[in-house]
Amino acid sequence: MITNRTFTMIKPDAVENGYIGPILEKITAAGFKIVAMKYTQLSKRDAEAFYAIHSERPFFGELVAFMTRGPIVAAILEKDNAVEDFRALIGATNPAEAAEGTIRKLYATSIGENAIHGSDSDENAAIEGAFHFSGREIF
Ligand code: UDP
Ligand code: MG
Repeated sequence: MITNRTFTMIKPDAVENGYIGPILEKITAAGFKIVAMKYTQLSKRDAEAFYAIHSERPFFGELVAFMTRGPIVAAILEKDNAVEDFRALIGATNPAEAAEGTIRKLYATSIGENAIHGSDSDENAAIEGAFHFSGREIF
């Protein structure tokens, strides 16, 4: 199990608002090394599979529509304690509750359109990284 990597997406709202550069600057300034990165757009099928764990939640349809409406930046990041440190860097899901200086506090619009994704465990980081960069067949 790789424990020093995490997976991120700069979401469509942040790309639309011109925040790719500032967000990447925050990520690298915090000590994360970019292991892999691509500019891409999710299909409906991609977004439904990526967020399958939320399929029964009331916001699922809205989440899939949001995540497919424009391009994203997907990346695998490396740093000691990557998953936990990256979740701290991005801040709470709801930007209204995110700490000062976090990426979501600075760049997110709402609890749905919250600028950035960060894996929540080493296991999910490995699954999500593989989903975007090599192992799509595992889904
Ligand atoms: N989300 C939403 N409404 C909610 C909660 C979450 O639209 O009430 C969206 C939001 O984009 C969030 C994603 O669903 O980032 C995944 O939710 P999760 O609870 O896993 O939050 P995260 O891990 O991204 O902080
Ligand atoms: Mg999550």
